[in-house]
Amino acid sequence: MIYSIVKFGNPVLEKPTESVTAFDDDLKKLVEDMFESMYEAKGVGLAAPQIGISKRLAVIDVTFKEDPKAKLVLVNPEIVHTEGKHTQPEGCLSIPEFREPVTRARKVTIRAQDVNGNWYEKTGEDLLARAFLHETDHLNGKLYISHISALKRDLMKRKIRKLMKAGEW
Ligand SMILES: [Zn+2]
Repeated sequence: MIYSIVKFGNPVLEKPTESVTAFDDDLKKLVEDMFESMYEAKGVGLAAPQIGISKRLAVIDVTFKEDPKAKLVLVNPEIVHTEGKHTQPEGCLSIPEFREPVTRARKVTIRAQDVNGNWYEKTGEDLLARAFLHETDHLNGKLYISHISALKRDLMKRKIRKLMKAGEW
């Protein structure tokens, strides 16, 4: 099932999520649906709040279907280590058409559970590191625009409000 992506302005995107406690068939189905929804939206990462589900769960595939082993399920993830700095344009499926440079750690280690509840640690660099941080932020109710200047953020919000008024958001 393909979910539609919740857009900026919906409060579900800005509230912290609840931990996942049941590692059952429903979770497996939800994870499958999240990958499908992410690919449909042409994204490389998707957090549960972006489909209106306030749970501590995200999926990532920075290779966009090229490498099946790159498909990552992050259940209850935490950032355990960060290193270095890297500035790259960043976007979000929930804030379509906008991109802004964001400075983030270049190397990031997360600790998370897989779909069966097994804990694992994984270190990512560059785009994967960015995805770890971006998706974990989502699960804490935080969007990437909280990392850009207040001036740029206000400008972006003004443009979005205009689009909302025009019914184009
Ligand atoms: Zn996002």
